[in-house]
Amino acid sequence: MSANESKNPTHIAREALKRLAIRHLPPTPANFQVCYNEIAGLPDIPPFPDRPLRQLADGLVPRNEGQKKEVDALLQAITRRSWQGVTDALNGFVRAGSERSLGEAAVPAVPLAVLPVDFAGSLGRVIDGLRPFFGSDSPRAVALADELVALLRQPAVEASLARGVLDQLLCHVRSAVEEQLEIRESLLKLLHLIIENIGQLSIDDQWLKGQIDGLLACVTPPLTLRHLDEMERRMRDVLDKQGCARARSVEAQQEMRSMLTTFIDSLAAMSQSSSTFEACIEETARELERVTSPEELRPLLSGVMAATHAMAEESAHSREQLQSLRQRVETTEAELIQLHKELDNASAQARHDPLTDALNRKGLDEALLREMSSMRRKAAALTVSMLDIDNFKRLNDSLGHEAGDGALIHLANVARRHIRPSDTLARYGGEEFVILMPDTTLDEGVEVITRLQRELTKAIYLSGNERVLITFSAGVAQVGLDEGSGDALRRADQAMYLAKRAGKNRVFGG
Ligand code: GH3
Ligand code: MG
Ligand code: MG
Repeated sequence: MSANESKNPTHIAREALKRLAIRHLPPTPANFQVCYNEIAGLPDIPPFPDRPLRQLADGLVPRNEGQKKEVDALLQAITRRSWQGVTDALNGFVRAGSERSLGEAAVPAVPLAVLPVDFAGSLGRVIDGLRPFFGSDSPRAVALADELVALLRQPAVEASLARGVLDQLLCHVRSAVEEQLEIRESLLKLLHLIIENIGQLSIDDQWLKGQIDGLLACVTPPLTLRHLDEMERRMRDVLDKQGCARARSVEAQQEMRSMLTTFIDSLAAMSQSSSTFEACIEETARELERVTSPEELRPLLSGVMAATHAMAEESAHSREQLQSLRQRVETTEAELIQLHKELDNASAQARHDPLTDALNRKGLDEALLREMSSMRRKAAALTVSMLDIDNFKRLNDSLGHEAGDGALIHLANVARRHIRPSDTLARYGGEEFVILMPDTTLDEGVEVITRLQRELTKAIYLSGNERVLITFSAGVAQVGLDEGSGDALRRADQAMYLAKRAGKNRVFGG
């Protein structure tokens, strides 16, 4: 076959048909094209997708003259089968999208030269109001804010000028805010370290451990003012207790050290007197060997007598000293026990109840005052509830005091899980609890406590293998605007009493 014949399209087409048959390929145009190209030695270029491209071009809706022109250019490029043309037209279409719309009135894009007066006034007031937030450690931001406020107070404020100062101010504020955020992060980390350290330095005390855990929970982001407030109170308790413990143990250590010194001195004196006595006896023994007459014995004997006497006196003195030492050790020991007791009392005076970690009476008094002033400031509602466990004495009597303690802890835990973070739980007395609910009306409060009652019934308390159902009776009262801090509590207590009278395990509003 000549080269000419092999390039003859008729021959190539015939060969392509044969190849289709040999390969058992369906005789579609696409398959034919592939075989044809192979035989003709042409590159296997995929066919130009005219039809889908045309559909795409038809689907484009031009929004302005520019886009309309580009759609025409696209159609022409498809006709010419030019990929470059298609690409250029599509890019042009996108670019033209930002031009004015078809039929839109021509508005010259002239930037505002002067700010509207009321806008400038409002912006000035906003910047002035934000001034304290720029912080004393960013004097440049404060100066820029002042400059901007002064500028905005002028009668006709040039917009570009105001914009320039505002951009600079924003730049400073942004970096100041970033810095503040980093500082806050670092402070929190530092605080965590300090708290952990306090925990490790402290004497081994369960109460303190509880406080430290509480503190760590308080400084876990997100930080809220309420959290910080709680943290401050706990920190004060820990510091008070630590201060007390440290002063007393330094005293006890000094006492022990002085006793040790006296003890060592006594021992030294004892061994001194016994070695003197020993030397005297040895000397007497040597003299005895040389004695020839009874007269010579007398001075020897009186020497031994004197030495023995001195020795006895010294021993008596040492015994006395040791006895007084023992007494002092016992006193110090008693004092250390007393110290522990006092520390426990200190925890009782602190703001948290060591058993349930709820606030105690002192903590409750402070929290109530705080919530009441917040209520008045915000003109919001505040509701208090008094809870008393039903038949608690019977539980103690049948299962023991420890099981009773466990039940108190259980109730506190269930309550904490089901009240809002802004609510406060306090242990009012033995088996009585108070819950403060800010931003809550009487009806809502009754609902909250009734829900807690249901949750407590579901969360059965296990004392060993014993399943114990704990119920409570509760009174709820909304704090009046002109009430004293104890008044609402008294009303809640009265309502709780009525709930008991009505058969227990119920919630009454007061
Ligand atoms: P009511 O349903 O009327 O409230 O009866 P009650 O038995 O719950 O009330 P009562 O006032 O008769 O008894 C309360 C008991 O709570 C008596 C006291 O021993 C016990 N209690 C008080 N504080 C504690 C405590 O910290 N732990 C334990 N385990 N028991 C406590
Ligand atoms: Mg009671
Ligand atoms: Mg009770």
